Amino acid sequence: MNWREAAACRSEDPELFFPIGEDGPSRRQIEQARAVCRRCPVMRACGTWAVRNGERYGVWGAMTAGERRGLRLSRPPVGGP
Ligand code: SF4
Repeated sequence: MNWREAAACRSEDPELFFPIGEDGPSRRQIEQARAVCRRCPVMRACGTWAVRNGERYGVWGAMTAGERRGLRLSRPPVGGP
């Protein structure tokens, strides 16, 4: 089974997961999206997919785009030194 089939966000408004920013009023929206992610049975698979695929927008696996970018920068590239 594809992890997407078990996604908790399937029954949510997709707009919730795509805030226009990461600061100010967007913080509340991000926290609402994270609350859905935290009860999602595939949160880890979703976050891993988003980091590995360089997903540039939205909340995936309870992480914002900026948080995922930080994770990618803090890890050596696959096959690297
Ligand atoms: S972790 Fe969040 S964005 Fe990912 S599938 Fe689950 S609810 Fe959707």
